[in-house]
Amino acid sequence: MKRILLLHTGGTISMSTDQRTGAVKPSDEHPLHQYSHLFEENLEINEEDIFQLPSPHVTPHDMLSLQKRLMQAAEENIYDGAVITHGTDTLEETAYFLDLTLDSPFPVVLTGAMRPIDELGSDGVRNLQNAIWTSLSPDARDKGVLVVLNEEIHTARYVTKTHTTNVATFRTPTFGPIGIVSKHEVRFFQKLIFNETYPIKKADKNVCMLKSYAGMDSTLFDALLSTDLDGLVIEALGAGNLPPAALPGLKKILEKNIPVVITSRAFNGIAQDIYAYTGGGKHLKELGVIFAPGLSGPKARIKLLILLEQAFDNKQIDLIFKK
Ligand code: ASP
Repeated sequence: MKRILLLHTGGTISMSTDQRTGAVKPSDEHPLHQYSHLFEENLEINEEDIFQLPSPHVTPHDMLSLQKRLMQAAEENIYDGAVITHGTDTLEETAYFLDLTLDSPFPVVLTGAMRPIDELGSDGVRNLQNAIWTSLSPDARDKGVLVVLNEEIHTARYVTKTHTTNVATFRTPTFGPIGIVSKHEVRFFQKLIFNETYPIKKADKNVCMLKSYAGMDSTLFDALLSTDLDGLVIEALGAGNLPPAALPGLKKILEKNIPVVITSRAFNGIAQDIYAYTGGGKHLKELGVIFAPGLSGPKARIKLLILLEQAFDNKQIDLIFKK
């Protein structure tokens, strides 16, 4: 008999529709409770509602409580896999937080739904079934935390939500999914070339994120200077460039020794120091920014938050982001 831990955290997968107004809202009883016995013979599912939040309400503290429950499960040494249901809006951030902080002996898979349980073509039960199958697959081990929706398996590190409503919303730009689930077959065809995990006890650092735009100046950087800022992530333009008018504000933040991590606002490709003009990547690098090749802004923010909890200095953080 196999055993999995199924942790519910909220999101559309736990919601239903008010037939009168059409509004989607949390149900009193988690609707998936009545389905979990259907998924597999010879499978024991230990189900817990760890929290019940729409995912825009999820904070790094909630991610940490989830991580602690999974660490405890690893110590219990009775599980073959863990599945977490989560709202899709911030699912990628929770998944990456867990990826960076869990050294789990069993596969950990996150899933969610774009349509509530009572909507025509609802995807929640199917996604949950595929996530359970994936968590039980021996091939899912040592691939980091996984995200399974719409019959695709993605790595927590690179997956992102790309559509507001479509069920095919989770994509991995540039690199693609690492596997598929179809007709009860879980098949992997790629794997990550390295894994990294860090111990974590707190998630208290204040890491903000800015998206760059044509004509960006120093206003937002100056505003951040009056806050308790521990780190900053910028989704820069193209390969990793900023408008010249943003530089005075950026420099003031760097002078305070606050780590500034550069990603790209472009959907595909990686951020790199290529251009030597004012505000170009090479110039930003000389000023002291850290490039995060391959990571999106929200993922780089989660990583910086975790690295800052390790008390690494900016040089060490730079080396780690280079990996
Ligand atoms: N707004 C919802 C949430 O993230 C969307 C979803 O779950 O699909 O909680």
